[in-house]
Amino acid sequence: MAFFVHLTIKFFQMKNMQPESLMMTAGYDKEWSEGSIKCPIFQTSTFVFHSAEEGKAFFELAYGLRTKDPNENVGLIYSRLNNPNVEILEDRLKIWDKAEDCASFNSGMSAISTVFLEFLKPGALFLYSAPIYGGTHHFIKHVLTQFGIESLAFGPNHTAEDIIEMISSHPRKDQFSMIYVETPANPTNHLFSLKLCKKVADHFSSEHHKVIVAVDNTYMGPIWQSPLEHGADLVIYSATKYIGGHSDLIAGAVLGSKDLLLRIKVLRTFLGNLPSPNTSWLLLRSLETLKVRMDQQEKNAIQIAQYLSTHAKVAKVYFLGLLEKGTSQFEIFTTQCKGVGAMLSFEIKGGEKEAFAFLNHLKLIQLAVSLGSTESLAEHPATMTHIDIPENEKKEMNITNALIRLSVGVEHVEDLIADIGQALEAS
Ligand code: PLP
Repeated sequence: MAFFVHLTIKFFQMKNMQPESLMMTAGYDKEWSEGSIKCPIFQTSTFVFHSAEEGKAFFELAYGLRTKDPNENVGLIYSRLNNPNVEILEDRLKIWDKAEDCASFNSGMSAISTVFLEFLKPGALFLYSAPIYGGTHHFIKHVLTQFGIESLAFGPNHTAEDIIEMISSHPRKDQFSMIYVETPANPTNHLFSLKLCKKVADHFSSEHHKVIVAVDNTYMGPIWQSPLEHGADLVIYSATKYIGGHSDLIAGAVLGSKDLLLRIKVLRTFLGNLPSPNTSWLLLRSLETLKVRMDQQEKNAIQIAQYLSTHAKVAKVYFLGLLEKGTSQFEIFTTQCKGVGAMLSFEIKGGEKEAFAFLNHLKLIQLAVSLGSTESLAEHPATMTHIDIPENEKKEMNITNALIRLSVGVEHVEDLIADIGQALEAS
């Protein structure tokens, strides 16, 4: 009894703690591995059942054939379905977004494509925010179209009324099923209102047909924006970015209600796109420092953005910390963002020649795509991450040849500013 009371008190004390305090212990019982303070890597493909009856019960749940009894434990079966490292990872990811459930994936694209394939059926219509990550854009335009799935794009300046009108006048309006939004938009940091997305989704939802709002929150990570608190049904991450944070793994995650996640997990079983035990273990390690890394990255980005905004060779800086009060973008920012992030882009005076000269002269900041990692990275969206986008669309999205994207890391900020300064002088 005393032991039970002790555990109950411990549970309530821990429940009130901040996510960063729980990242070292949540979901792991040291008794599973001889008191080892860190969870081992469960490098196994399969798990032994205590009895045939137990095996049957586990399979029924894994295939979604019945719902879980309140006190029933979902047991381990096979590492394409679940694994202790994966389950601990998902338990810890749930904490940041206060989500009921989480499904982790072997890449951000796996997470995104599994969501699309589960919630969009042949003949469906859905809406997506533009600009959007290039891989997602490719999947929408070249894969989903093969299944007869149509999409409409919307921009940061569209009102809810514009969008409702656009969908209502589409022949497939009755099959409208999802709003997929990436905010802030990569690479210009334009914000999309989650409140607006929810309003549009509600307008087209009925008792028998729910329009889902799915948000790719990769750019803000689990620290600077919590889409589920603003009406989103699903939040998606490329965990390769801030969550992994060290440019040494590829992974993804989806979070939301138990009902929606059950559907996603059943499809994941058959697509076979669960992360490996080793990748999940690395992510557990990364989560222990997520808050301190992201805090430092944000602090550095604020100083770099200030430096760039007054530099004679810089024409324009896109950074959430520089949004002007009184604008609609600032209004969205104060409503749904908790931080300004560590991603910024800027236009150098000139064009591709000057942008390339800047990139080629960087010494500390590395010339590579990806983002959210400990090391700072720079790239040229127009000819790299966003090369696939037609020229007229790039123009509409302000993706010019002079635009450079920076992902700010944890290096000493004075070294980063010195590096940017010398590369600007040389360009
Ligand atoms: N979403 C965003 C916003 C991204 O930037 C990326 C990758 O750059 C992805 C999704 C895809 O993630 P992954 O590369 O882990 O598949």
